[in-house]
Amino acid sequence: SLYSGIRTFFTYESSPAPAPSSPAGTIRATLFPGDGIGPEIAESVKQVFTAAEVPIEWEEHFVGTEVDPRTQSFLTWESLESVRRNGIGLKGPMATPIGKGHRSLNLTLRKELGLFANVRPCYSIPGYKTRYDDVNLVTIRENTEGEYSGLEHQVVRGVVESLKVITRQASLRVAEYAFHYAKTHGRERVSAIHKANIMRKTDGLFLKCCREVAEKFPEITYEEVIIDNCCMMLVKNPALFDVLVMPNLYGDIISDLCAGLIGGLGITPSINIGEGGLALAEAVHGSAPDIAGKSLANPTALLLSAVTMLQHLNLTDKADRIHNAVLKTIAEGKHRTADLGGKATTTDFTNAVCDNL
Ligand code: NAD
Repeated sequence: SLYSGIRTFFTYESSPAPAPSSPAGTIRATLFPGDGIGPEIAESVKQVFTAAEVPIEWEEHFVGTEVDPRTQSFLTWESLESVRRNGIGLKGPMATPIGKGHRSLNLTLRKELGLFANVRPCYSIPGYKTRYDDVNLVTIRENTEGEYSGLEHQVVRGVVESLKVITRQASLRVAEYAFHYAKTHGRERVSAIHKANIMRKTDGLFLKCCREVAEKFPEITYEEVIIDNCCMMLVKNPALFDVLVMPNLYGDIISDLCAGLIGGLGITPSINIGEGGLALAEAVHGSAPDIAGKSLANPTALLLSAVTMLQHLNLTDKADRIHNAVLKTIAEGKHRTADLGGKATTTDFTNAVCDNL
């Protein structure tokens, strides 16, 4: 089919699928609808899954209204236990609660669930025109350390420090994942993105680990690209890249840049990978309070994230069916949401996807 070349993005052969968790052969998965537009787009996923007869039983969990002392955040202990038990989940956007005395929701999820890699496939959507029609890359972001270690303090008045932590263990783990991903997805090249010319110790160690892993994968071409040059090359010619692996902060920025190349955060999926095959797919956009409750949100990012979840579970047929229906609906153009220049509501788009299944 028109979309068959794209679907290789969504296979995660490295991770064993969790065993079906209910007697009826259905698989139990945790669902965080999240805040703002989250419940609307989560509803869309549920509707499409029902129409496609996906054998998933959702265990829904909501962000708490008070800090749970066991997680030190607004995420409840029970919700984390649910992901650990099921080994698989889907997350809508979560608004960041304002105030002191609690951990960020996303940081809590990553740390508590050991989600060490954020994988974001980025490819030109057929029929949806941007400046590029040949984007076909995957960013793999180290998800647990770097500048996001939460170690910040004031040295003296007017001087503050934020510590960047890079460990051999986390760098090897994400590099191994990136090379394994490249190998199992028919990709030819891994580019390590860095600033080791300035951050000699931290990025230096990250690169050393990537080189070590690269030696174990002689069939994959390995290269190192300095982050500023990488940004310029991505904007000039994104087709130069295949799989990119990088420390946390660079990954945060570069993955959004890549989303911009193909039309924005409303259509970009992602999945977070942890040890033992645990995975939490998530839309990378926020809770969009400006359009929440108005049926204006584009559910594509969450739908395609749900597709990554199905691939992770080896439910390939269902994943392909939904993936193709989403892309077909966008390509047809009649039912695009406002962010893609259309007039369709979230419900119109969802109904059209169901019709295209
Ligand atoms: P945002 O991504 O929510 O919104 C940015 C812009 O993109 C807005 O104009 C919004 O309307 C639009 N947009 C986002 N998703 C869309 C979709 N699916 N369809 C159509 N338009 C869409 O970013 P923000 O406004 O900076 O953040 C809002 C809240 O979300 C904040 O509390 C922030 O901390 C949180 N946030 C959470 C996550 C997450 O849970 N992963 C990520 C980013 C931001």
